[in-house]
Amino acid sequence: PLILGIETSCDETGVGIVRGHTLLADALASSVEQHARFGGVVPEVASRAHLEAIVPTMDRALKEAGVTLADIDAIAVTSGPGLAGALLVGVAAAKGYALAAEKPVYGVNHLAAHVAVDTLEHGPLPEPAIALLVSGGHSSLLLVDDLARGVTPLGATIDDAAGEAFDKVARLLGLPFPGGPYIDREARAGDPSAIGFPRGLTAPKDLAAHRYDFSFSGLKTAVARWVEARQRAGEPVPVADVAASFQEAVCDVLVRKALDACRSTGVETLVIGGGVAANSRLRAMAEDRAAAHGIRVRVPRPGLCTDNGAMVAALGSHLVASGVAPSRLDLPADSAMPLTTVSV
Ligand code: ATP
Ligand code: MG
Ligand code: FE
Repeated sequence: PLILGIETSCDETGVGIVRGHTLLADALASSVEQHARFGGVVPEVASRAHLEAIVPTMDRALKEAGVTLADIDAIAVTSGPGLAGALLVGVAAAKGYALAAEKPVYGVNHLAAHVAVDTLEHGPLPEPAIALLVSGGHSSLLLVDDLARGVTPLGATIDDAAGEAFDKVARLLGLPFPGGPYIDREARAGDPSAIGFPRGLTAPKDLAAHRYDFSFSGLKTAVARWVEARQRAGEPVPVADVAASFQEAVCDVLVRKALDACRSTGVETLVIGGGVAANSRLRAMAEDRAAAHGIRVRVPRPGLCTDNGAMVAALGSHLVASGVAPSRLDLPADSAMPLTTVSV
């Protein structure tokens, strides 16, 4: 079946088209530059940009795949979580296209789609798998028994998301928004062991209650203090070393806990998804350390880690293949959709 996916949960308008696990089109429009001067995504600006971009992006995807709307078998759309007004644009568009072309529509979870997108690169996901989901708004460890029907959360961040930590630290280092890719780039020239930043929730006393949880706000504060101390002393801030040492602390905790989850559950596949999965150090560290334990790591290429329409189409395709029933045409845009709801 030919599945079209629509993504509008944040600042990316994405339309992807897949057949099975094959990606045929991945059209993307971003309003990121309109938000950059605010240092974060402005919801009203994002909604307006989606409204302007949705039809052209749809047309571009169909053209790229060389198909028409009539050829599409089902439409999947991000139902949540995300910015309410932004989600509404995608959901309304999906309903309109579905109604006009008489196609079934699937309202899907954006976070499950961040995991499902890997199937476009590496084929069907072996289940059970452990998923490390690290994005701008979320950081979780999940046990994936059946991605079509539900996932079991093992742990999550108790404060900031990993991507949020990257963005905040980038800001205090004077790097542009969103900061993740800039930290990644700066870190290449830095020494990851230059500064010993804290590894949140890894002390024995924390592990008892928070074995699979994350905390990045203490790390962010530690970086801020370190940078301030330098500035107060009138010394230059070694941006590359700070970036590399911060990045090392984040990746160390993420990989340690993800592999601990694999080992304790006996699961041999670790899939990493979400924008932070694009991070070069996270990818390399996960590969290195997993190999020593006989665990296979699956990470989609960086371009598929950040928000896009292909990930929504990938999850839609998996739902159709798994025999999951489509959503009702009055499906909601649910800004607080729980991680455990894969489709509505
Ligand atoms: P969510 O998926 O939780 O709703 P989102 O959709 O806004 O949030 P994503 O697009 O999945 O987030 O990810 C964006 C985040 O990924 C940003 O915080 C960004 O800084 C981070 N990011 C992107 N590339 C990299 C990178 N190479 N290294 C680290 N972080 C990165
Ligand atoms: Mg984005
Ligand atoms: Fe996302």
